[in-house]
Amino acid sequence: MSYLDTLFSLKGKVALVTGGGRGIGQVVALGLAKAGAELVIVSRTGADETVKLIQNAGGRAYSLLADVTIEKEVDAALAQIVAKSGALHIVFNNAGICIHKDTLDASIAEWRQVIDINLTGEYLVARAAGRLMIEKGIKGSIINMASMSGSIVNVPQWQASYNASKAGVIHMTRSLAAEWAQYGIRVNSLSPGYIATPMSVDTPRELKDAWMPLIPARRMGDPEELVGAVIYLAADSSGYTNGSDLIVDGAYTCL
Ligand code: NDP
Repeated sequence: MSYLDTLFSLKGKVALVTGGGRGIGQVVALGLAKAGAELVIVSRTGADETVKLIQNAGGRAYSLLADVTIEKEVDAALAQIVAKSGALHIVFNNAGICIHKDTLDASIAEWRQVIDINLTGEYLVARAAGRLMIEKGIKGSIINMASMSGSIVNVPQWQASYNASKAGVIHMTRSLAAEWAQYGIRVNSLSPGYIATPMSVDTPRELKDAWMPLIPARRMGDPEELVGAVIYLAADSSGYTNGSDLIVDGAYTCL
């Protein structure tokens, strides 16, 4: 085994990626599989394409349907993982949405939808995974998808619900890290800046033009540029990294 393998190999691990049917989740799922993990992809509308990509790369994967906001669907998905794979070591809690709307125009239903998927959904998945890991004595790693929006206020678009949800994810992560450290379970968050995915590619040109001068890197990130960060947080090499928020934003939050 090479030195890098001892640091970053995920061989023998089972990894769950929520929202892995497209975008960041799809690319990270493929990366985790290439590092040796068996992948389980959860989304509402299916992830056949991701499963095929992983299998074509020689990896192992299957997908499950679940809405992360519905507790019994999350619990049923976790039960299926135990039945099929016998364990769960890694969770990339990635499913999320964003609504750009001025606060005075946004409805309370829109606020609730964003908080429900981004914060409560991640809580339900983390809680079910933590429960399973504790029951089975697994020293797992949970990686919650946050965003730089959890630390800064994006401009020129207003998105108070999204920003609040991601700030909530960062502090929920610290809370769970402190609570579950006694079981050897680590909980960290990942905070990307603007990444080119279906969520952001549909964004109007004027908005992207307004973002560029604010990004010291002068470009959006590529989903591949998040893979190494997630593998690090998933692997034993980050054994003493717990409750951290790893920012990957081309230096946006430095200004
Ligand atoms: P995409 O819109 O490309 O993908 C979102 C994924 O989440 C889809 O697979 C979707 O699948 C799934 N999803 C949404 N709602 C639910 C739900 N209720 N239950 C289960 N799955 C759900 O988004 P990105 O890849 O861009 O974003 C992924 C994550 O990264 C999000 O949490 C986002 O906030 C975060 N992020 C994104 C950034 C960016 O610039 N793109 C920057 C910083 C953070 P389906 O509809 O089939 O359920």
